[in-house]
Amino acid sequence: MGESKEARENRLDRYKRYYQKHKEKHLARNKEWREENPERVKEVQREWQRKYGREHMKKRREGLIGLHGPDDGDDWQERNREHHLAQKRENTNRRRQEVFMEALEHYGGSPPKCYCCGESIPILLCLDHVEGEGNKHRKENKISHLSQWAKRNDWPDLFRVACHSCNMGAHLNGGVCPHQQAA
Ligand SMILES: [Zn+2]
Ligand SMILES: [Zn+2]
Repeated sequence: MGESKEARENRLDRYKRYYQKHKEKHLARNKEWREENPERVKEVQREWQRKYGREHMKKRREGLIGLHGPDDGDDWQERNREHHLAQKRENTNRRRQEVFMEALEHYGGSPPKCYCCGESIPILLCLDHVEGEGNKHRKENKISHLSQWAKRNDWPDLFRVACHSCNMGAHLNGGVCPHQQAA
């Protein structure tokens, strides 16, 4: 319908964070409401069944959703766990990729390109420490994902965008990419 996939995911994400934060209160209020509105509860269940029941059964058949307890005699817990882990990995990767693109645009313009040779294919680009000494900086700050760190620290003026070739070129050539000397 009107909502894009991304907007929907953002909304669900916000909701999940909110839910985690207020879980106890939420559950208590939910229970209270159920007790006061038994008719409405049935209605909602019917509605849910009508809307999502088929999809749910399909997922269950495919083993993506477990049955409801350890006595069901299958490995629902294990399958469920694997499914959620896979989903979590996918989300993490996607978020990292988004922050990486954000970082490229912040430091490398739009569309981002290598400061030295002008390469602009994103997968060939990386963040390059302006001062060199990238490894030292990473180690001192215990950084595993440079673009995430940069974002969290409000995009400090420590980086520029380089292609992997110019990044490595400078590293091997005492801090200056060989392209710059040839010019
Ligand atoms: Zn380059
Ligand atoms: Zn270069």
